[in-house]
Amino acid sequence: MGPMRKNTLVPSLLLLGVLSLTTACTPDSEVSTASVDTGAGPSAASGVERTVDPTKIEGLDIVNDSGNGPSCPWATSYPAVPGAEPMTAAMKSDVERRLRAYVDDGCGSGNELDFNIGFDFLVASGDVVGVRLTTQDPGAAGDGTETKTYWYGGEDAQPHDALGLIAEASRPDFLSVVRERLEGREGVDTAILGAALSGPQAQQDLLDDMSVTRDGALRIDFDRSTVGVPAGGRYQVILPPAEVAPWLSGFGRRVQEQAVSPGGTLDLGAPTAEEPEPAPEASAPGADTTDCSKVKCIAMTFDDGPAVPETATLLEYLAEYDARATFFVVGQNAAAHPDVLRAEVEAGHEVGNHSWNHPDLTQLSTAEVTSQLDRTSAAIKAATGDEPTLFRPPYGAIDDAVKSATTLSPVLWDVDPEDWKYRDTERVAQTVIAQAGANDVVLLHDIHPTSVAAVPEILRTLTAQGFHFVTVSHLRATL
Ligand code: ZN
Repeated sequence: MGPMRKNTLVPSLLLLGVLSLTTACTPDSEVSTASVDTGAGPSAASGVERTVDPTKIEGLDIVNDSGNGPSCPWATSYPAVPGAEPMTAAMKSDVERRLRAYVDDGCGSGNELDFNIGFDFLVASGDVVGVRLTTQDPGAAGDGTETKTYWYGGEDAQPHDALGLIAEASRPDFLSVVRERLEGREGVDTAILGAALSGPQAQQDLLDDMSVTRDGALRIDFDRSTVGVPAGGRYQVILPPAEVAPWLSGFGRRVQEQAVSPGGTLDLGAPTAEEPEPAPEASAPGADTTDCSKVKCIAMTFDDGPAVPETATLLEYLAEYDARATFFVVGQNAAAHPDVLRAEVEAGHEVGNHSWNHPDLTQLSTAEVTSQLDRTSAAIKAATGDEPTLFRPPYGAIDDAVKSATTLSPVLWDVDPEDWKYRDTERVAQTVIAQAGANDVVLLHDIHPTSVAAVPEILRTLTAQGFHFVTVSHLRATL
């Protein structure tokens, strides 16, 4: 009976393997990233992650900061999810450490290349939340792009790193399969790979970007040049659901469940957040009849928002002085706070495009520029019903390639109090008041409370001097 049994068992195991591979690899019309080397051939699982609607995350705050100096341009943002404070703290600490390294390195060794950190939600439902931070650092190895995923589980009230998706006891099996999938791929350095998988810290550093696709497969992304240099893009390993299932931790299983079929709202077990302050009532201001060819106009512009609660406060100040302004919003913030954009438009202000996550557009390919601007215009349209017609390039960095990549009209500025550098309300107010002249465009940032606090004094003083505050499009139309 023995040999007979063995003979029948082997083919059926083989068959099972083939079957589970085939089910996991149902052809999908979407692909994850065009330039990723999955090394798994045409039958690989799709690798596509689910997109998360950030408006479903109650009390979500986005922490934005930027340095707009031409010799050291940088912008960072990461989400603060109520109830997941330890995960927010981990992101904050990484963001600050990476930014410090860029600045200490002389801001990309003085070559004026920008530093950028942006985020994507991977999962935010049930009791689990996952975020990927993408860092673009001109001083970093490889192609300068580093990604890392951060996880939090409400049930155990614990932050998890990427390896936390895999049960402790299953890690040796898991790691040997990961190694198998990478070995032999073009460009992989076996010695470096061996070293990178040799100890807990090295493993944590190498395997710091793991996520679950909407098919339930485990996706592992490797920063370029960490284990070798692929011909194009980055290495990616995708383990089909059936293969990874026995290795997942309890937390990993909950992440997988939510990635495949999200269960409504996010509940981290934290006390319910206070009701957010409602956006100020629209003053229904009607058409602006100011004629900038007859009176002195100023176009106040506010970049990098919307921010909560700063932008709502700013809207109250503007309404008090019957002032109109233009908001150049960042797409990833606009998508999270569409209600604030709606309040801006309802109060008679203009919304313009400031890219999705604030990169220096002159460093990007045409396709990337188009994607940065189109994604943001779509978020603005979804929130307000109208596409913007204006854009402000981050850092004011623009060239012919950027101009020809879009039909949006670029807007720079005349007055810049450098409010990102001087977080000093009185200084910001006095600089604008001293420098603003007829028909000037003034640059401020509504992500900084100090800048928002400067607005009443600016409006009061300049209104008394006979200035009228209009949107950029209105200024251009009536000059
Ligand atoms: Zn900006």
